[in-house]
Amino acid sequence: MQLWYPGAARKPLGTQTEPKIGTPRVLIFHTMSGYLAGTDSWFRRDGYAGTESHFGVGGSWDKGLDGAVWQWQALDRKADAQYGGNAYATSVETSDGAKSGVPWTAKQLEALIDLGEWWCRQTGNPAKLVTSSSGRGFGYHSQFAAWNRSGHVCPGTARVKQLKERVIPEVARRLASGSDPTEAIVKKLPTLARGAKPGEDMQTLRALLLARSHPEVKTIEGGFDDVVEKAVRALQQWGGIKEDGVVGEATWRILLLRERK
Ligand SMILES: [Zn+2]
Repeated sequence: MQLWYPGAARKPLGTQTEPKIGTPRVLIFHTMSGYLAGTDSWFRRDGYAGTESHFGVGGSWDKGLDGAVWQWQALDRKADAQYGGNAYATSVETSDGAKSGVPWTAKQLEALIDLGEWWCRQTGNPAKLVTSSSGRGFGYHSQFAAWNRSGHVCPGTARVKQLKERVIPEVARRLASGSDPTEAIVKKLPTLARGAKPGEDMQTLRALLLARSHPEVKTIEGGFDDVVEKAVRALQQWGGIKEDGVVGEATWRILLLRERK
């Protein structure tokens, strides 16, 4: 099981104090009233000793972060977002720009579907709405008293509808269509390092770096030079993987996920 989603910006909250929960069995969807950056500073104030979620997804009201995914907690550790569910759930916050009741944006939906697919593949859980708090699959915060003792409305009617009608069916469709397409591509790509000559694989690498906000690479033509190596190291640092400047499976995996700002 991968513990950190390659499609997310990693935002650990300092010294880890939360216990391990093993493989989570339910992915619980929330709305956070406000903004992604505001939630981040709220979580950051008390680190893991306070409240936190595993994931957060920004909307069009978060400047430049529509569809961006941030991860605060590793998949096998506890996050304190849903009362009794904390012991076995993964939590995903979604911002609303302080406009209560708004649906998810198209980019939030796309990001939630990608994240949901990755989560099911990592945990082995099905893409279906749980019918009790002891089920396996997807749920939402206000669904059961076991997860929500204060009775607050989260993530709201419009988003629950999107979860049931868009997110769950699309993730289920992707899982039914077979193996992870990204993994199939990753397995076919060679390891590239400093000195690699121009060619089709180098064009792929340079194009993906350009798409992942590394304009310094300038063009898809060329070999594995200093500029490419620097960009690769920056990407590896961002992704929290070994920073060796060599493009192997872990680096390709990050590069192949949809561009996120
Ligand atoms: Zn909630």
